[in-house]
Amino acid sequence: MASPASQFNADATRLVADLEHRQLIRQALAGYEKTRGTQAIRYQSWESARDRAAAVKAEAIRNLDRYLVQFEQNLVARGAKVFWANDGVEARNYVLGLARTRQAKTIVKSKTMVSEEIHLNEALEKAGFKVVESDLGEFIVQLRHEPPYHIVFPAMHLTRGQISDLFHEKLGAEPTSDPEQLTMTARRTLRQDYCRADIGITGANFAVAETGMISITENEGNARLTLGLPKTHVVLLGIEKIVPKLADLSLFLPMLATAGTGQQMTGYNSLVGGPRGPGEIDGPEEMHVVLLDNGRTRLLADPEQRDALRCIRCGACLNVCPIFRNVGGHTYGTTYQGPIGSVITPHLRGLQSWQHLSQASSLCGACTETCPVKIDLHHHLLQNRRNAVAAKRSVSQRLAFRAFAFVVNRSALFRMTSGILKALQPLQRIFNSTPADPAWPWTKSREVPVFARSSFRDLWRQRNS
Ligand code: SF4
Repeated sequence: MASPASQFNADATRLVADLEHRQLIRQALAGYEKTRGTQAIRYQSWESARDRAAAVKAEAIRNLDRYLVQFEQNLVARGAKVFWANDGVEARNYVLGLARTRQAKTIVKSKTMVSEEIHLNEALEKAGFKVVESDLGEFIVQLRHEPPYHIVFPAMHLTRGQISDLFHEKLGAEPTSDPEQLTMTARRTLRQDYCRADIGITGANFAVAETGMISITENEGNARLTLGLPKTHVVLLGIEKIVPKLADLSLFLPMLATAGTGQQMTGYNSLVGGPRGPGEIDGPEEMHVVLLDNGRTRLLADPEQRDALRCIRCGACLNVCPIFRNVGGHTYGTTYQGPIGSVITPHLRGLQSWQHLSQASSLCGACTETCPVKIDLHHHLLQNRRNAVAAKRSVSQRLAFRAFAFVVNRSALFRMTSGILKALQPLQRIFNSTPADPAWPWTKSREVPVFARSSFRDLWRQRNS
């Protein structure tokens, strides 16, 4: 099997040359781009909102241990069960155990990236359960046996025609290019599954410590049906989703909608604080919340990059990233794509296998500029590059860098070496771009810069003479 890095290179090389694919992504993001300019209109000061959101999330992350316990206590007091999962295996086993003991047959899910992260669908299906994704985009990619393409728009890489063909083949629907008809086809299929489902699994956008509630924001109403109709509701929650107070949602809900989809507010916003209470006529009989670490505390322990835990998964950094827009979401081979995925995946899945993602950036800074919670994304990519190099620098590289430092710190030696290299440059040009060049691994995709005719030092001297 190809390594993640070589798979990334192969897929990226193929897709950057695929003009049709690139055009599709541009079209899919065109509507989103139109709304970006309206952010300033909706907020008296978008910048102040970003500052406030960054500060609230930073405080939540700094006191995560306290807020998580507060969240748990409040939730348990209303009859919910909380399970702390160190990793994906523990989280999967907990859900599998529940499904077995409840003798479940059908499990309906609303969109949850944590479930993608722990590969829950595969585990449940392997154990014989029927798993149905209820978010329209997720439903489509599930029928195609594909992972989501984007953390907010899972099926953005598909045309209406492709979706129509898919529904015709898998669901026997009449071919159509009408989005409403396509949606109705999915809706008819899904309604039956909601009614049959024994367990509903959702994610959560925020977890409120003060009240012990989860907040789910969506546009289709599917999450509300998923959490409300089946007898058992399971919530998969990354531990970084904590916000301290209920009032914080007045900032984060419109902010997530604005940055994520360009809306003022999403269509449905649910707050859930436990299973059906005494005297209540609907809602699940039991509620389980799985709090997942899976590498997040490793990131928390890194003072340089822990601000990445502020992420509210709005997807805005993917939408503006020139690399994402050219290579697409599947190329990353990760649950979280784009700049935020490139920053956190090495922490969640190991630096050595995933450090190549930090190279998937032009360092233009568009991601940092757009991030509503002010995560310093492009600097974190640089730090990942530095960490990866430091972790596996060879003896020859170490010697080369020491020699370089020795030379540039000595003015006369630097001048002499530059003079020698400049004199040798014509030779380099003969070999350049051929495997005979000793620096071929570097020069095969780059041109060595030509020495300036006069050095800065000479120019300065001439100017002052
Ligand atoms: S890093 Fe920022 S822009 Fe990217 S998904 Fe997270 S919150 Fe949104």
